[in-house]
Amino acid sequence: MSVWDELVGQEHALAVLQQAAQGARAIVDHAQEAHPGADTSGSVRADASSLTQPTDDPSRSMTHAWLITGPPGSGRSVAAIAFAAALQCTGEFPGCGQCPGCRTTMARTNGDVSILTTESTQIRIDEVRQIVLRAQTAPSQGRWRVIVIEDADRMMERTANVLLKAIEEPPERTVWLLCAPSAEDMITTIRSRCRHLGLRIPDPHAVADLLVRRDGVDPADALSAARAAQSHIGLARALAKDPKMRQRRRQIITAPAQVRSVGEAVFAAEDLLSIAKTQAESQSEERNAREKAELMRQLGMEEGQSPASHQRARIRELEEDQKRRSKRAIQDSLDRALVDLLGIYRDVLMRQLGTDQEPINDDCLDLIDQLCAQSTPQQTMKRVQAIEEARKRLTTNMSVPLILESMALSLRPQV
Ligand SMILES: [Zn+2]
Repeated sequence: MSVWDELVGQEHALAVLQQAAQGARAIVDHAQEAHPGADTSGSVRADASSLTQPTDDPSRSMTHAWLITGPPGSGRSVAAIAFAAALQCTGEFPGCGQCPGCRTTMARTNGDVSILTTESTQIRIDEVRQIVLRAQTAPSQGRWRVIVIEDADRMMERTANVLLKAIEEPPERTVWLLCAPSAEDMITTIRSRCRHLGLRIPDPHAVADLLVRRDGVDPADALSAARAAQSHIGLARALAKDPKMRQRRRQIITAPAQVRSVGEAVFAAEDLLSIAKTQAESQSEERNAREKAELMRQLGMEEGQSPASHQRARIRELEEDQKRRSKRAIQDSLDRALVDLLGIYRDVLMRQLGTDQEPINDDCLDLIDQLCAQSTPQQTMKRVQAIEEARKRLTTNMSVPLILESMALSLRPQV
């Protein structure tokens, strides 16, 4: 089992990263030959120049800043962590999956690999400052200091500029791995300093294979889940394993077809929001409780004890963080619901246009038939646009119930 196993359906990216990991190893090996026994981390200026000069040196395939892009669920973070592991690897081939470097990186406990991840809508400037500071220190194991930033697009320009400075003048053995949905999401100055690696939406069969191989899911269920999740790996896994989630998904995609009046649109919108909230809460409840217990332990508090003023500030800070995270989780969950809805209308349109493309929702053929019979392709197009519009509006400050109601009304079957 290698660190690359979870990166499914990404042959091109895999080849690029594996070659770069080979190149990185050549740089480390070369430095160690030049200075046997020495701490090599700061001594490779000559080698590092080969990163930019064209030569036949294999180290050319390595570079110090990467921008890994792809739609949610395509495996941006998986690719970044696997590459980080391959850079720390001391096994026979980079990314062996067995050596301490690989294992600690995959478990996210390697001291030379820092991962900045956010569950709120923005990465804070102090978080970036902290990680920039970390990037300046030499790797303790003498290989690479790797900084992974998931959702690097979630930065205000001021914050991105702090990052830009660090990427412009990197220490020799520091590697930045930025992940974002698309290159356009990053400011141009950062984009132009990174090597861009784009991931594709993997083929549903490749995702299904992974679920069968890794999670022991039945092959037919795995394919159905992979299609329903539109190849989002994490979601496909959750759908295949959790019947409650399948049921919630079914509720989401069938509800709008029942809407006949404004009143029903309001109810449908409320339902959609409450399903998204339930989903988000079920994900965060346990974690919130655990974090709070951990903080109380750190503060030396007993359960049920009322906090002193200095303790109260820390608790409030944590609760604020959790609130922000929960808002973001609901937003994500809602967007996901709308993507599910889009999938249904896409299936309807494909059927109405007479293409033989496989439906995303092969478990809802009855609903697809019903919607086909009730509408023209033009109406279906309008509905697709209404859902796209709602997704856009959800990223603004507009009232969420209003956005959903207006969408539900546009989806109402014409009589
Ligand atoms: Zn290894």
